[in-house]
Amino acid sequence: MTANIIDGAAIAAELRGEVAETVRRLGENHGIKPGLAVVLVGNDPASEVYVRTKAKQTVAAGMASFEHRLPADTSEKELLALVRQLNADPRVDGILVQLPLPPQINAGKVIEAIDPAKDVDGFHPENVGRLAVGSGGIVPCTPLGCLLLLRHVRADLTGLDAVVVGRSAIVGKPMAHLLLDENCTVTTAHSRTRDLPALCRRADILVAAVGRPEMIRGDWIKPGAIVIDVGINRLPPASGDASGKGRLVGDVAFDEAREVAGAITPVPGGVGPMTIACLLSNTVEAAKRRLAGPGPKG
Ligand code: NDP
Repeated sequence: MTANIIDGAAIAAELRGEVAETVRRLGENHGIKPGLAVVLVGNDPASEVYVRTKAKQTVAAGMASFEHRLPADTSEKELLALVRQLNADPRVDGILVQLPLPPQINAGKVIEAIDPAKDVDGFHPENVGRLAVGSGGIVPCTPLGCLLLLRHVRADLTGLDAVVVGRSAIVGKPMAHLLLDENCTVTTAHSRTRDLPALCRRADILVAAVGRPEMIRGDWIKPGAIVIDVGINRLPPASGDASGKGRLVGDVAFDEAREVAGAITPVPGGVGPMTIACLLSNTVEAAKRRLAGPGPKG
């Protein structure tokens, strides 16, 4: 058996197309243009690439993009002042502060300062809490993207055994909540889990969000399982690699896993493109909610 490859790039392009269509209608019917503000502190090269890609895709979807680049020695006070300014700016529907932040800034404090209605990353404690109680907050982009990929493979996930490897606040934990809401039976694994291979072998849905290159082997996978690989790891360049950059691999040993799984995401071209598409989607949803005005609390 060879797994179906889940084409994240194509599914993300489809989602970006739907977002662009919603943006067009919002402009035509209500005269509004959703806006996303991205804040980058310092010049971490990976963050620079993410921010550039986000800005490009925001504009391509017909939305306004506001980029704020601050020097690496920016104080927490200065960053908090910018966040308050963006909270009050009516042109801004979504605010994203690119992580990691330099050590003099407390990231938790900055996230808590973002208006939860504009927190398109879904990291504010109010949105985290809403996801936990299932009451419609903004959902973090990467796990939301994973869920959309899963739904693409199988519309109804009810009753399936799901194992999420990784318990970070940005991927593993929200992913587990989303799968529970889909009526899966969910186990969250982490570095202290006993006999991880045996646990993974029980999973109809296996989500890997570990950050360890190709840790999950083919013989850890249940035949026919759906495998979502969130990991993005760059291997050291092989000898003779002219680019000198090294290969990008996931947390799953793809060549082995595809022989066993029913469907699997590749790296790159799986979860990665979905993350940014979901960011655009969260921003347009925030704009729609703002247009509808404050609803009943709760
Ligand atoms: P974190 O480092 O925050 O979390 C990693 C998790 O994996 C932790 O819960 C850790 O357990 C667990 N873990 C580490 N080693 C093992 C092990 N040997 N066995 C079992 N569990 C283990 O990472 P993130 O969640 O932020 O990211 C995970 C991966 O996803 C990374 O490769 C990252 O680059 C990628 N990523 C990709 C995105 C995308 O858009 N595609 C977006 C975000 C992340 P413990 O809690 O016990 O330490």
